[in-house]
Amino acid sequence: MDFNPHILTQRFSHFSQAQYRPGQLEAIRYILTSPKPVTVLIAPTGSGKSIIGMCSMAHHPRASYLCSSRQLQAQITTDFPEAKLMMGRSNFQCDLNLHLTCAECVHTKLSPCVLKHITCEYEQQKQEVLKHPLQILNYSYLLYEGNYVGKFSDYPLIICDEADTLESKLAGFVNLTIPSSLLQRLNITPPARKTATSKDGVSVWQAWAKKIKSVVETELAILKADIMEGASEDTIKLFKRLESFVGRLRIFLAHVDQTWLYQQLESRYSHRPVWTFQPVWLTPALTREYFWRHGQKHVLMSATMPPKPILAQLLGLSSGDIDVIEIDSTFPACNRPVLLKPVADMSRRTFDTDLPHLLAEIAKILTKHRHERGVIHTKSWRIAEAVMGTGNPRLITHQGQDKHEALTRFKQQPSSVWVSPSSERGLDLPDDQCRFIIIAKAPYESLADKLVSSRVYGSSLGKYWYKSACAQDIVQASGRGVRHEQDYCVTYLLDKQIELLLTKHAGLFPRYWKQAVDYA
Ligand code: SF4
Repeated sequence: MDFNPHILTQRFSHFSQAQYRPGQLEAIRYILTSPKPVTVLIAPTGSGKSIIGMCSMAHHPRASYLCSSRQLQAQITTDFPEAKLMMGRSNFQCDLNLHLTCAECVHTKLSPCVLKHITCEYEQQKQEVLKHPLQILNYSYLLYEGNYVGKFSDYPLIICDEADTLESKLAGFVNLTIPSSLLQRLNITPPARKTATSKDGVSVWQAWAKKIKSVVETELAILKADIMEGASEDTIKLFKRLESFVGRLRIFLAHVDQTWLYQQLESRYSHRPVWTFQPVWLTPALTREYFWRHGQKHVLMSATMPPKPILAQLLGLSSGDIDVIEIDSTFPACNRPVLLKPVADMSRRTFDTDLPHLLAEIAKILTKHRHERGVIHTKSWRIAEAVMGTGNPRLITHQGQDKHEALTRFKQQPSSVWVSPSSERGLDLPDDQCRFIIIAKAPYESLADKLVSSRVYGSSLGKYWYKSACAQDIVQASGRGVRHEQDYCVTYLLDKQIELLLTKHAGLFPRYWKQAVDYA
């Protein structure tokens, strides 16, 4: 493919006078010339990875830029008005029923909507985006449309932003989750076997899922007849919900094998039990069928990505399918120092004896930054409670439900300190919103989680994945406070387990991040 170094200024009006930042041109050229189907771009915050993604797309007749959130989609659309944005149905108002969104659309093949091809906002936008060469979508939309509707597929190039979340997006699409309310409604009990490896495990699950599918399909046939005779909106919505559930059952029945797990969990919203089935690792068959087939080439962009063998295992690829390029941070390392101060070993064996050392060091750091806002990442609720138990009035924490309100309070109060076991990702705290970060505990995933323990105890690669996931979370957690070139924030690493990981497995951490690490 011919590489055009002027594509940025020629195609994108907001950058008509711009110059490339260090590493951008090299990365675009690398992506365009790589013979591999997947290119990984490790690019820290501020390196301008969206420019790299868009310029790569502009070299193709049609391409898609996948975002992980609506906010990110909005930001990319603002920066690149030449690209066209598509979002899910709930973002559009239905023309037929003005009190509904298009997610509650009552159109089906059985009850067509007269406005669908005339004024329906969602349908109009969708048709325009489908024809457009530069499309901005989100992961859920592509997965749903590409796999169930059959549009938004066949791209020469797909750019995946925040691709460190790709595995969880794909898992969310293929996992089968059944709320207890649905089982009760269908009058079906959970399956008799708890594990796939137990005697007849998989066949018992399959027979159970087939039974559910058959009950739901009978209900769908009845609803279909009602719809033909002009049913209510609620009936049509139920029909759509059950249709999509049958789609999930089909994926399950086609792919379930001995490597799948079954767990009873608690719904994040209703707190009622839900039953989930998921593969320990996404298989090549699953990822190919539901994701990779939608593009000839994919670029996975993130500030943190696992090493090739782990990435391949997570996404059903082979290491030979992947090329990697890493670019440096444009933020000076002196603005984002990461200081190792390993005062306590927060592993279970030494937790009780070392906790006082950890709390004493946290108290010292809080005194040093007495006039500044900061964040303490605790990973565990137990450490969060212990930190809050010190009684410092600057500390603000949250429970599962009130995180948003608590975070607003933190941002409003001067010199406040956010104490959280779950804020390694997604927090954007520029300038005075965060001047220091403490990582109190190595953020290893809990081995009490069945998926985590199956991976870790199931293979040596699983143990490596466990360490790699922790390394990525450390990098993500330390990046919450430096959001632009003039911004500055210091990170303190207090757990001896972090020091151990860093010294024994330095290769798990990106180059730009290690450049800023030193002992305190
Ligand atoms: S197709 Fe008709 S019913 Fe469906 S969202 Fe559009 S206007 Fe509303």
